Amino acid sequence: MTVKQQLHTWLLPLLFFLCLAVIAGCGCGETKVSKVNYNKYNSLFNDMNGTQLKAAQLFGIVPVDDRSYAFDDDNRLVKVSSCDAYKIDKLTHSVPYLTKGASVLLRTIGENFRKRLDQEGLSDCRLIVTSLLRTKDDVKRLQGVNANASSNSTHCYATTFDITYQRFDGGSKSSGERYIEILSDVLQDLRKQGRCYVRFETNQHCFHITSRK
Ligand SMILES: [Zn+2]
Repeated sequence: MTVKQQLHTWLLPLLFFLCLAVIAGCGCGETKVSKVNYNKYNSLFNDMNGTQLKAAQLFGIVPVDDRSYAFDDDNRLVKVSSCDAYKIDKLTHSVPYLTKGASVLLRTIGENFRKRLDQEGLSDCRLIVTSLLRTKDDVKRLQGVNANASSNSTHCYATTFDITYQRFDGGSKSSGERYIEILSDVLQDLRKQGRCYVRFETNQHCFHITSRK
């Protein structure tokens, strides 16, 4: 077999699959932010679990046992999908459902964030939602991975979701730190209006947000 024939029979297909593997593994299209002012956000967003839990129990659903629950039949829940305002990440320990109040809050956060990017002339990107409603079973499984996971999680009430500050869908690397500042401003505005409680979580690399409606 000539070198040219070898190239066609196995070298080129191999290169093609290698490229595919690299593209699939690199999270292309996302802006990763490595520099984060942890002290600033820790002190700005420190609504503790007890405070968030009171709102969750007041406005949320009764926690459900496991994934066999008929989420779509529960008229207090809204199914949440990626849209122009945010992207839903690949979910491992939660399902894409929220209360109506929390789903409106999430949409408002995403829309306000993009409006601010536009006003500042920054390249457009979307927020990434990393966790939503958890069943009791999800929480148990999560505790196996993360010892800090609370057994009394507000995520069980469908009032709570996480937005990562580590990654943004689209955008440009040079604006990464500014994206977090803008997200922080958007959250602080809504928090001051009494719309939500927010906790900055360093372990989970996210803003943990509970709706107060
Ligand atoms: Zn959370």
